[in-house]
Amino acid sequence: MKDPFLSTSYSPVYTEVDDDPKEVEYLEIKVKSALHHTRLPYSPKPFYYSLNLYRGCRHGCPYCFARYSHWFLGFQNTFDFQRKIQVKVNIAEVLDRELAQTKRKKEWISLGAITDPYQPAEKKYGLARKIFEVIAKHRWPAVFSSKSDLVVRDLDILRRVHDNAGAAVAMTITTLDPALQKFLEPHAVPIHRRLETLRQLRAAGIPCGIHLMPVIPFVTDNDEALESMVKTAVELDVDYLVHNVLRLRGAVVRDYYFQTLKTHRKDVFQKTRQLYGSRSYPPDDYVQAISGKIRSYKEKWGYRSRWRDLFPVRQLSLFET
Ligand code: SF4
Repeated sequence: MKDPFLSTSYSPVYTEVDDDPKEVEYLEIKVKSALHHTRLPYSPKPFYYSLNLYRGCRHGCPYCFARYSHWFLGFQNTFDFQRKIQVKVNIAEVLDRELAQTKRKKEWISLGAITDPYQPAEKKYGLARKIFEVIAKHRWPAVFSSKSDLVVRDLDILRRVHDNAGAAVAMTITTLDPALQKFLEPHAVPIHRRLETLRQLRAAGIPCGIHLMPVIPFVTDNDEALESMVKTAVELDVDYLVHNVLRLRGAVVRDYYFQTLKTHRKDVFQKTRQLYGSRSYPPDDYVQAISGKIRSYKEKWGYRSRWRDLFPVRQLSLFET
């Protein structure tokens, strides 16, 4: 019987974890534009432009908000988001042209705000590297986060971007538990490789941080997990540790995530849907409690963020605690 809690607009038949790494198809497309304005002034992020290289993401995180846009593109099979990846093969040329023509002030370009710029497709296509060559050439600042250690391949060019105008690179880490990671991000590289990437970024003198995004209610929000993440930030001496709580925006994202829990984490399924109710975000008291805990662990372990030095233009209330 259909679950009345789930939406009627999208009904994924989710019965398994997508764990076959060979099951991916790359669809090459050409784009007319590369750079997009972020939704200022409402966006809580300090970044003024965004740019995405791929549509869909092989990392396949069940909570990913980008499932929504993939569904809108017409990919409506349950696994299409992580199995049919559109590749913007001409994006570097388009960006080169746009940056050469624009008279706009050089503000931060956020790479991959929707999908991971260093997902497995990047090994084959090298679009991130080409894009950073263009960004370095025009001397714009750039920032991004990833769940891949492929970033290390491009340390040389990232260093150049940093020296020219500024760069910051975050590793997104939602859990330090390898078993949980396989469930939360089935095709992303293991956590220890992301931690090593942060060490190498530090050694290369490129500002870097941890995106604890999202904190997942009843899965990664326990005190031990949150404190361990802060301790990791201290040990690695990363420039920032920022977080947000899982947002389930839109029927596609919400239904996919709840179906996943229902199939694989029955122990937290009911609690999670009660927490969210009909909203896309947990109640304020839950969100504030998470921020409060992270803040207190930062104080306890003496963590000093350098986020505001890096991004002085727009201050954050949502991410930065
Ligand atoms: S790595 Fe990011 S973009 Fe890719 S599936 Fe996971 S949350 Fe989505």
